Amino acid sequence: MAGYVPEPFRIKVVEPIRRTTAAERRTIIRAAHYNVFKVRSSDILIDLLTDSGTGAMSDNQWAGMMVGDEAYACSRSYYSLESAVRDIFGFRHFVPTHQGRAAEHILCSLLVRPGNLVPNNMHFDTTQANIAARGGIPTNLLIDEGLNPSSHHPFKGNMDLRKLQNWIQQVGPEGIPFGMITVTNNAGGGQPVSMANLRETANVYHEHRIPFFIDACRYAENAYFIQQRELGYAALSPLEIARQMFSYADGCTMSAKKDGLVNIGGLLCMNDPALMQRAEQELILREGFPTYGGLAGRDLEAIARGLYEGLDPEYLAYRVGQTAYLADSLAEVGVPCVQPPGGHAVYVDARALLPHIPAEHLAAWALGVELYVQGGIRSAELGAVAFATRDENGDWQFPPLELVRLALPRRSYTQAHLDYVVETFAAILQKRDDISGYRMTYEPPFLRHFTAEFESLSRTN
Ligand SMILES: *Cc1c(COP(=O)(O)O)cnc(C)c1O
Repeated sequence: MAGYVPEPFRIKVVEPIRRTTAAERRTIIRAAHYNVFKVRSSDILIDLLTDSGTGAMSDNQWAGMMVGDEAYACSRSYYSLESAVRDIFGFRHFVPTHQGRAAEHILCSLLVRPGNLVPNNMHFDTTQANIAARGGIPTNLLIDEGLNPSSHHPFKGNMDLRKLQNWIQQVGPEGIPFGMITVTNNAGGGQPVSMANLRETANVYHEHRIPFFIDACRYAENAYFIQQRELGYAALSPLEIARQMFSYADGCTMSAKKDGLVNIGGLLCMNDPALMQRAEQELILREGFPTYGGLAGRDLEAIARGLYEGLDPEYLAYRVGQTAYLADSLAEVGVPCVQPPGGHAVYVDARALLPHIPAEHLAAWALGVELYVQGGIRSAELGAVAFATRDENGDWQFPPLELVRLALPRRSYTQAHLDYVVETFAAILQKRDDISGYRMTYEPPFLRHFTAEFESLSRTN
C-alpha cells in the first residue's frame, strides 16, 4: 500500500466547502436530471469531476498574474510563454489557445475532411468529437492490456504498433491527415506511454508520411512514469524526458489546465511553417491575435511558470503518490480499480462493482449518482454515456470499459479528503445490490455526458 507523500507546499489561501445532508442531495440530483454536471459546485463537498483547470496555483504563479502584460500584440507575457514552450516542447512554432479543445478545433478544421481517419492510442472525448464534427473517423489502436482493468503492464497507454501498421496498410495512408498519441491516456485510465512506444509510433507514422501530433495534456506525469518505470531513464529529469518525448513528434495540442497548472489555457505547437500560417488565420478568426490566443496576458504568464512547476520532481512524486494512495486505499476496502493507477485520477471499474446492472442501464452513471447522494462527491463517467455509439440500426455499441473517474485537482485536496472518499465507497459497497440503473431522457449529439438528462429505474427514487 502506497504511503502518503507529504505535500511539497503549505497552504496559504483556503476556500470553504459545504456539507449537505443525503436528503438534500437526493433532491438536488433529481432536480439536475441525475447529471452531476448540472449540480452547483456549492452543493458539492469533494469535487473530483475533473483535474482540468481545477487546481491551485502557486504564489509564484499569482505573482506572475500581477506582472502580466495586457498589450494586444507581442506582450511581454507572450515571450515568457514562448521561452518556456521552446525550452520544454522544442517545436518551431506555437500559438496559445483558450484551452485544449480550441487547439484540437483548429487542427481538425485545417486537416480533417469527411471520411478521413485519425488514429490514436485512445482519443479523449473532445478530440473524438472534434474529429467527428468534421466528418472524420477517430480510431483507437491501444494495446489490448490497456483495456484490461486488472493488467499490471507498466505502460498501458501504449499504441499497439502491429495494429497500427496493419490498419494503415488496410485503409491507406492517403485518408489519414495526421496521427496522434495521447499522454497519458485519459480515456483509458490515465495510463502512460513509454518512450520506446512514442519513438516507434513516430516511426510508423513517418514511414507513411503521416504527420504526428501528441495530445500532450499530461506530458509531465507521463515523463515521470517513464523516469520511474522505463529502463535507462532513472537518471534523467522529467524536463529532459519531456524534451525527448516531443522530439519525435511534428506538433502537439495541449490543455494547459492539466500539467500547465493553470485554470485556463492551451497550446497548439507544430514544426510546419505553412500549416502554422493557416492555424494563425483560424486563430485570429475565432480566438484572438496569435500572441494571446483567447487568453489574457496574465494567463500566459501563469502558464509559463506553471509548465515548469508541473515538471518539478518533488511535485510529481507527491502528485502521482497521492493518486496511488487513493487507489490503494480503495482497493483495500474492496473497490475494483484500474491497476496500476494512472497519474491524475483513479478509475473505478463500475461493471465489476455493480455487476447486476446491465450495459444499457449505465452502471458507471449509476455509481456516479450514488457517490454524490452518499457523500456529496462529484465524479465523471467514462463509460457508455461518454463513449457508446450507435450502429447503422440505431443499436448501442458499448465501449470496452465502464469506468467512474475520480480525478484529483492539483494541489487542492488533503489526505483527510481522500480518506473521506474511501469511507464513502465503503458505505456504497455495503448496499451495492440496492443500486439500480438509469435511462437517458435527453441525448445530445456530441459530448453527451456534459448535458444529457436521465431518469432513475429504481422504484423507490
Ligand atoms: C482535457 C483534455 C483535452 C481537452 O482540453 P480542454 O482544455 O478541456 O479543452 C484533450 N485531451 C485530453 C487527453 C484531455 O485530458
